[in-house]
Amino acid sequence: MNYAEVAVNSPGSRSTFCYTIPPAFNISVGQAVWVPFGSRVIQGIVLRLSDEPAVEETREIAGIVTDGPLLAPIQVSLAQWISEHYFGPPFDALTLMLPPGFERRAITCFQRTDSQADLPLTPEQSQILNIIEGKKKTSLPELEKAIGKAKARQITNQLVGRRLITQTLELEEARVKPKTVPHVRLTAGREEIEAAKARLNKSRAHKQAELLEFLAGQTRPISISELKERLNCSPATTKALESRHLVSVERLRVRRDPLSYLSLTTSPPPVPTSAQQAACELIQDVIVRKARQSDKPPIFLLFGVTGSGKTEIYLRALAQVISTGKKGICLIPEIALTRQTVERFAGRFPGRVAVLHSGLSPGEQFDEWQWIMEGNCDVVIGPRSALFAPLPNLGLIIIDEEHEWTYKQEDKSPRYHARDVAIELAQLSDAVVILGSATPDIGSFHKAQQGEYYLVELKERITPRGYSPLPEVSIADLREELKAGNTSLFSRSLSAAMKETLAQGEQIILFLNRRGTATFVRCRNCGFVLRCPRCSIALTYHSAEKKLICHRCRYHIPVSQDCPRCSRRSLRFLGIGTQRVEEEIRHFFPEARVLRWDRDVITRRYAHEELLKKFRDHKADVLIGTQMIAKGLDLPQVTLAGVISADTGLNFPDFRSGERTFQLLCQVAGRAGRGVKAGKVIIQTYSPDNYIIQAAAKHDYLGFYYKEMDYRRRYNYPPFSQLVRLVYSHANEEFCRREAERVHRLILDEKAREDLIDFNIIGPVPTFAFRARGKYRWQLFLRGPDSARILSRLTLPRGWTIDVDPVGMV
Ligand code: ADP
Ligand code: ZN
Repeated sequence: MNYAEVAVNSPGSRSTFCYTIPPAFNISVGQAVWVPFGSRVIQGIVLRLSDEPAVEETREIAGIVTDGPLLAPIQVSLAQWISEHYFGPPFDALTLMLPPGFERRAITCFQRTDSQADLPLTPEQSQILNIIEGKKKTSLPELEKAIGKAKARQITNQLVGRRLITQTLELEEARVKPKTVPHVRLTAGREEIEAAKARLNKSRAHKQAELLEFLAGQTRPISISELKERLNCSPATTKALESRHLVSVERLRVRRDPLSYLSLTTSPPPVPTSAQQAACELIQDVIVRKARQSDKPPIFLLFGVTGSGKTEIYLRALAQVISTGKKGICLIPEIALTRQTVERFAGRFPGRVAVLHSGLSPGEQFDEWQWIMEGNCDVVIGPRSALFAPLPNLGLIIIDEEHEWTYKQEDKSPRYHARDVAIELAQLSDAVVILGSATPDIGSFHKAQQGEYYLVELKERITPRGYSPLPEVSIADLREELKAGNTSLFSRSLSAAMKETLAQGEQIILFLNRRGTATFVRCRNCGFVLRCPRCSIALTYHSAEKKLICHRCRYHIPVSQDCPRCSRRSLRFLGIGTQRVEEEIRHFFPEARVLRWDRDVITRRYAHEELLKKFRDHKADVLIGTQMIAKGLDLPQVTLAGVISADTGLNFPDFRSGERTFQLLCQVAGRAGRGVKAGKVIIQTYSPDNYIIQAAAKHDYLGFYYKEMDYRRRYNYPPFSQLVRLVYSHANEEFCRREAERVHRLILDEKAREDLIDFNIIGPVPTFAFRARGKYRWQLFLRGPDSARILSRLTLPRGWTIDVDPVGMV
C-alpha cells in the first residue's frame, strides 16, 4: 500500500486527502500522522490505505504521531458513518474518539548541521544561525520572537536550503500526562533480606526491619503514601533501605479514580418481580435465537412506566453479557445522574465500572480512558460521549431515557444523535442495544411497532409497597384561578396539596418548563394564545424588533396589548423563572426549606450531586427545577409533584413540542410516589382540554402516540419524513436573509431538476434565537426522503451549519 486517505485536522474540512506513504514509514488504518496542508503541517488520521492514488498529485506524509493505530478499525468505520450521515467534517467525527488531551500542535524545530557556510551570510542569517548554534534544538516560535514571524520563516528556509540547518517536527508538550507517584520495590533476594533484617534489628533499626518484612510479603511495589498509612513509615526509613541497596524507589503510574469519593456498598441483586423475570427471559431468548441464526444482534425497546424497575433489567442483561466475556456501555441523559446510576451499577459490579464525562478533570479523563482501553472494566457509564470509550469487546449498549433530547449534540459538529450512532456502533461490533424509556421517542416506538425493534414492556410500578399504581394526576385550570382572583403562581389545589404535604413532613418537587418562556403571548383573561392565521402555530415574540413572528411562514404583526378575542388589555408575555417560584414559596410557606436546581445555580463540579444528596437526605422540603428534574431521578420521599405551567412547551413553534411536553409531564409525574407512600401530581394549565395534557394526566402513552402519529402523517413530519436543518448566520441581517433565500432557490432548482415529488422546503425563516452572539440567523428545513441527495450536490459557503435529524426546529 503506497497511499493513505487521511482526515486532516483543519476546521470545517469536509473531504479527506490522499497522501503518499514514504517507503520508510509503516502506516496502518487509524494511525495519527503529520501531513503537509497548504503551508502548514497538521495532524491527520489515516482512514484507508490503497495502492492507487485517488488524485493525480499527492504530497508525502511528513511524519508519524503515534506508532501504532490510535483508533480501532470499528472506530474508524463509525467515524466515517457519522461524517457521511451528518454531513460533518471527518476529523470532527474522529475527534469524538480520540483520547482526552490528544490534540497537540506540531512545532517546527531546527538544528545546526556540520556544514560550514561557503558564501558570506547576511546579518539576519548570522543572527539566526547564532541562536541555533550550540543548542540541541531551537523551536520556530523562539526564532519568531527574535525577528518576527515572516522573517523567521524566510531566513530559516534560506538556511535549510544552504544545508546549514535541518528542520524537524516535534510534538508540543502534552497537557495531560499519566500521574505517577513514588513506589518502593524490593530488590534484595530472600536470603539477603533475612540477613539484613537480623543486622537491622541488632542495630535497633526496627522500623527498617519492619518495612523489609512487610515488603517481602507483597507481590507488587507499594506507594510511599500507602506505606505511611499502613506502617506509619517515614520517607527516611525508605531512604535508609535504598542506600543499603535493599529496595529501589521508582515512579509508577496510578489511576486518578473519579469514583473514589463514593462510598460504595455492594448489594445482593433483588429478587426480580414476575414482570422483570418475563422481560429478562424475552430479551435472553431473542439474543440466543438471533445468535443461533447468525443474524444481526437485536435492538430492544424497553417500554416501562416510571418506577417499573428498568435498571434491574439493564443490570441483568449486562451480567449476562459479562458472563460471555463481553462488556457494555450505559448512556445516561445528564451528567447529574451519574452518581445515581454509578451507585447502582458499581453496587452490582464492584471495581468494574468506569465513568467518562466532561465533568471529570483532564487527568481523570485520561486515566479512565487508559483504564478502559486496557480492558480493566466491564461497563462504562456516562452521557452521550461515553459511546466513544475505547472499550474492547463491546457486547451491549444501554440507552436509558432514550427519548431524551440531550442525546443529540446540537451545538457543534458533528451534530450526531447518540441513539442512532449507538445503533450503528452495535451493528459494527455485533452488540445488542437496549433502549429504555417510560415515554419512548415517537420514532423509536414506531420502529418497535414496525417490528424493527423488539418491544419489551414493564407495565407496573414497583415500590416498597409492592406493585403500585402510578400517582393520581389532577389538572388545575389556571383560567378559573384568575377568575377567582388568584394571581399567584400556585392554584388553590396546588397550594392546598403543598400545605398538606409539608404538614406530613414529606417532600415536593415543582417543575418549571423554562424552555419557551417569554416566547409566546397569551391573554391573562381568556387564555387566548396568538397564533399564525396561516399555520396556526403560536407566534413567537421577538423583543428586538417588537414583533410577533410565525416561524413557519414569516407572517408577522406588531406587538400589542389588546387581546383579539376578548379585547381586554391583558396580553401577557410569559416568562417565569425558578427564582420567582422560590420567592412565592417563601411568601406562602415561610417554614419550607427550598432548593433550586437550574443551570444558574449549579455551576461548580459535583454541585448537582451535593444538591441531590441534600434533598435525598431530606435536608430540604421543596425542590424547584427545570428540565433536569424530569430526567429519571429516583427520590422515594417525594409525594407531591407540581407542574407550574404545562403550556409553555406546548406553544413552542415546533412540530415536536407536543411530544416533548407529553414526555416532560409524564416524567415529572413519575417522580412522585416512588417510596413507601403513594404520590400525587398536579398539572397547572390554561389548556386543560388539550389532548397532550389529557393523555399525560392519564399516563396514557398509547393514546398520545396514535394522536401524535396522525398529526405527523398529515403534515409529513418525522418519522414519515427526514428533516435536515440548514442555518446560516451572519452579522448583517440583510445579507443573512439574502443568502438564505439564495440557497433556497438553489435547492428549488435542484428539486425541479431531479423531479423530487415528496420533497419540500420549510422556510427560509429567522431562527427562534434570531440574533445569537451578535449574529443574525436564518434557517430552512429540507423535508423528504431525498434530503441527503440534495445536500451532497450543494456546496454551502462558510457560515452555514447542517443539522441532519435535528431534535428541534427553533
Ligand atoms: P425506572 O428506571 O423504571 O423508573 P427504577 O429502576 O429506578 O425504575 O426502579 C424503581 C425502584 O424500584 C427503585 O428504587 C428500585 O430499587 C426498585 N426495584 C426495582 N426492581 C426491584 C425488585 N425486583 N425488587 C424490589 N425493588 C425493586
Ligand atoms: Zn404562519
